[in-house]
Amino acid sequence: MSMPMSRVDLVTGLRLSERHGATAVFRILLCCLSCLGLSPHASAGTDEYAALRRRMVETQLKRPGRDITHAGVLKAMAEVPRHEFVPPAQRKYAYEDGPLPIGYDQTISQPYVVAFMTEKLDPKPTDRVLEIGTGSGYQAAVLSPLVAEVYSIEIVEPLGQRAQADLQRLGYGNVQVRIGDGYRGWPEAAPFDAIIATSAPEHVPPPLVDQLKDGGRLVIPLGPAYEQYLYVFKKQGGKLDRQAVLPVRFVPMTGEVLRGKAP
Ligand code: SAH
Repeated sequence: MSMPMSRVDLVTGLRLSERHGATAVFRILLCCLSCLGLSPHASAGTDEYAALRRRMVETQLKRPGRDITHAGVLKAMAEVPRHEFVPPAQRKYAYEDGPLPIGYDQTISQPYVVAFMTEKLDPKPTDRVLEIGTGSGYQAAVLSPLVAEVYSIEIVEPLGQRAQADLQRLGYGNVQVRIGDGYRGWPEAAPFDAIIATSAPEHVPPPLVDQLKDGGRLVIPLGPAYEQYLYVFKKQGGKLDRQAVLPVRFVPMTGEVLRGKAP
């Protein structure tokens, strides 16, 4: 098991000082764009958001230390309109380097974490992928052009409904959303080539292992509330090989996984 990185702000994958510095730089950048008539604050058009997205890819994903290199992932991150997946009040921050609130005490993950997890999932055009924790639907939208089918489960009904409507409206036709507890997986659609969890349990839900194909990948944050490691599991010959890849801070998985735990 390798722990390649120094301890970082667990939400964002950034050192705190770096994060504040980066935020300040981003705000200055927004002011500059504003002066050039490119402000996303007022009535940003499609092109203005596209420019912010390209900048997000260059400055947040490709930069040394982050090193996202998967061409398909970079393309998806440059194309998927993150601002469409956040509440209107958050749109102006949609391409900043951090998570954002989406209501119901939940968050849309930081763009870097979405790109990192997608890269670790090693997506293939023929893959059928299961996501636990639809949230805003953004992670599912990023996966959509990279794989054949995405099945995504959300436990908070209004969030799942909103994500489903947004994904449909934006044309992500190969994504199916179901309201329910992802702990049990999606048995009717199993087995999956890859499974990604964007909420954190303290142990791997056994049904997810059962529903993973041999040779499949499982990318999942594991650990106590807000202090977890992101793990990549590979299923080979019925056995799981695991690697810890990044300290992270996700919302805890709720539902059945908490049964039997002290309140
Ligand atoms: N992938 C999301 C991030 C969502 S945050 C995005 O791109 O926006 C994690 C989500 O997991 C939350 O919406 C939370 O409600 C959901 N969640 C938590 N426990 C769950 C469970 N047992 N089954 C399904 N979803 C769950």
